[in-house]
Amino acid sequence: MRHTTTGWLIALVISACTPEAHSQATKQDDTKEKTAKPKPAAKDARANIKILATGGTIAGGGEAGGYSYTSGQFEVGDLIKAVPGLDKKAMLSGEQIANIGSQDMNDDVWLKLAKRANELLADPSVDGIVVTHGTDTMEETAYFLDLVIKSRKPVVLVGSMRPATAISADGPANLYNGVAVASDPAARGRGVLVVINDSIHFARNVVKTNTTNVETFASPNRGAAGLVASGSVTWFEQMDKRHTTDSEFNVKTLTALPRVDIIYAHSNMDATLINAAIAAGAKGIVVAGVGDGNMSKSALDALADAAKNKILVVRSTRLGAGMVMRNAEVDDDKLGFVASGELNPGKSRVLAMLALTKTTDPAKVQQMFKQY
Ligand code: ASP
Repeated sequence: MRHTTTGWLIALVISACTPEAHSQATKQDDTKEKTAKPKPAAKDARANIKILATGGTIAGGGEAGGYSYTSGQFEVGDLIKAVPGLDKKAMLSGEQIANIGSQDMNDDVWLKLAKRANELLADPSVDGIVVTHGTDTMEETAYFLDLVIKSRKPVVLVGSMRPATAISADGPANLYNGVAVASDPAARGRGVLVVINDSIHFARNVVKTNTTNVETFASPNRGAAGLVASGSVTWFEQMDKRHTTDSEFNVKTLTALPRVDIIYAHSNMDATLINAAIAAGAKGIVVAGVGDGNMSKSALDALADAAKNKILVVRSTRLGAGMVMRNAEVDDDKLGFVASGELNPGKSRVLAMLALTKTTDPAKVQQMFKQY
């Protein structure tokens, strides 16, 4: 179902939105008004927003009206065209970075996306970026970008829970609201944002909480960053953690990221998967611990050995909210572990990967977990 009309759709949207097209229209009007004094052409007041598409359900298609579908079937021009009035909100142009379900998101796409976003944001004519993305791993990509984007300009991720072909598809409204947020000067300096279902979330805090419901994204510990309805934006508090231009992490020279695995704790847990991760070359292990980041004695012993061998060990939690406290039931100081604080296993993995590009010292990484 790949669409071949995409090229001309983008061209149409771009040409209709360029300042040149706008000033051409102004010139024609001027020739009609022969007696009027010549006026300087008005500057286009719309924000210049780049859409970077990666796939996901928002670009998914299936049988008309149904909920079974394949991610990443429509391309960026189709998404833009599906939202009436979007070109009035902003000058838009799109690029296809990938076209995958976000369950297939990987380090190569992350690096490509982050590098391209940084390039575009360095262009003074660009006001902001919207990334279309599947919802399954959106919280990880958003946090990765939050840590490596080198700009205060808005970067907004949008997705949808229902494919374009479903009854009540939610993608068009989410894209409209995402463009509205990215066009809002007040979005500058807030870090990377996720816009979905009329809510705005900080990348660091947002998590997917429901498998299929459109009301799935939440920021359990801290609440949303704002609200957006029909393109009208309301902001709440600012983010107090380091991000974007205040972050020490940089992808510019990176061609790969260190391997960090997540291991899920449970009753009767042994060290088999920990040893397998180490054998596979993991430079870091995040444990999705029970409760406050706990795990069995045999898991603790295996990870204590791993930490002695300079493998970064982070204790997070398999629970949906709360924070993992340092030195509560586990002696992190003695074992050389890092406690994840508010970061869930997926986000802990993102920060651990970037931390390992700088240091393997758990004390320094613990500071990073407090600051980011
Ligand atoms: N599996 C899809 C994805 O993450 C789900 C979605 O986008 O909502 O790409």
